[in-house]
Amino acid sequence: MSKILIIYTGGTIGMVESEDQQTLVPFDLKHILEKVPEMNKLGATLDSMSFEHPIDSSDMMPEHWTMIANQVQANYEDYDGFVILHGSDTLAYTASALSFMFEGLQKPVIITGSQLPIGMIRTDARENLITAVEFAIQKIKDEPVIQEVAVCFEDQLFRGNRTKKFSTEAFDAFISPNYPELALAGVNLNFNHQELFRSEKAAFHLTDGFDRRVAVLTFFPGITEQLVTTVLSNIELRGIALMTFGSGNLPQHDWLLKAIGEAVERGVVMVNVTQCAKGNVEQGKYETSTGLVEAGVVSCGDMTLEATLTKLMFLLGQSDDPQWVRDQMATNLKGELSIR
Ligand code: ASP
Repeated sequence: MSKILIIYTGGTIGMVESEDQQTLVPFDLKHILEKVPEMNKLGATLDSMSFEHPIDSSDMMPEHWTMIANQVQANYEDYDGFVILHGSDTLAYTASALSFMFEGLQKPVIITGSQLPIGMIRTDARENLITAVEFAIQKIKDEPVIQEVAVCFEDQLFRGNRTKKFSTEAFDAFISPNYPELALAGVNLNFNHQELFRSEKAAFHLTDGFDRRVAVLTFFPGITEQLVTTVLSNIELRGIALMTFGSGNLPQHDWLLKAIGEAVERGVVMVNVTQCAKGNVEQGKYETSTGLVEAGVVSCGDMTLEATLTKLMFLLGQSDDPQWVRDQMATNLKGELSIR
């Protein structure tokens, strides 16, 4: 029998209506099998633990990613897989961050959440929880099928660092715009075996440390020089993601390239991530991005903003050498980036 540890961090999935039905209160995970009795039929031993103070995922900080990762590490040998219950709002950031923290992961770490609280009649929480556990217990020849950080929502399983929350409304709230789903849950669980991540390193270990001195600068037609230079000349910042148009383009102002060049010179890691959900940055394709290549801006290719930012914070947390961080940003570490 597979042993799965369920870790509740907070969010809608763990909420039930209070007795007077006036408010939503966190659900006591100890009673999970009473609320979702179908879980007993999954053929797995389920244990659960919870953040002492469950949080809305908008309050998630790198310290919370560390708490989750530490729980996985502390229990790694004792369980066949992990299911993390998380608010959906920043779930894609947590999934991305965890993927960079784990080295040599050979067990499933599946994150799920829901749009409606578990205690409500039409809830998607029960289905998501059951499906996440089902994905986590799948093995072939005693080996877990999933050996990476994945996101289960509705009937889909995605690579965690490829996901985005796409809808505030629909039950299938997440997308993986640039990478196929790892599996689909229909009548059967169908895995896309050729798309699954396999770690090259054998021993599992955890690397921690995020540097929060990063910023995202989203461009829009009409953005002022003052706003751009205020951000780019901020000497506190070690990393800046330029959120660009289309395949990585920016307006052709001399002052802009100059400000970018000066920031790069100062040792700031500047990366180019597109505002488009689907597709990738191709610096140099148009004249409007050639200057960025010359200025030393790193292309984020088809990485999501969530993967870009967590990767940047993670790498800056590991090294003081901006060139090393730039090289790693352009390297596919955990399946977050398609190398063309
Ligand atoms: N605001 C909630 C959260 O992210 C929404 C959810 O759980 O879906 O924690």
